Amino acid sequence: MENVPTIPTTTQKVFCPYCFHTLSGGDYFCPFCGKQIKEKPVDTSVMKQVSVYLVSLLLPPAGLWPAFKYLKAKDPQAKKIGMVCIVLTIISILLSVYFLSAFVNSINTQITNQLNDGLLGI
Ligand SMILES: [Zn+2]
Repeated sequence: MENVPTIPTTTQKVFCPYCFHTLSGGDYFCPFCGKQIKEKPVDTSVMKQVSVYLVSLLLPPAGLWPAFKYLKAKDPQAKKIGMVCIVLTIISILLSVYFLSAFVNSINTQITNQLNDGLLGI
């Protein structure tokens, strides 16, 4: 009976495309030439999600940066996070536009009322 070496399923043989050294499947960087082999997976932990969602909501344009980073990732979970970030950013922008226009309107009304009052007082 042949002694077939068992290869663990988690470590496939990968070769560095730059220096052709054998790499273990989990390497993000080639240990021989230091080149990046594959992109590091983005952080999809709950804490990370909460923080990027908060940034999307509270600092609208800033949330787009992590959003695109997540959308670019191959992980479907990360893509979902990216979509949520963009939706939150849009909601946040719409809300601030809404409140800003409501604020401007109320000031306009006040000024108009005061002007009217002033005219009536003459
Ligand atoms: Zn290499």
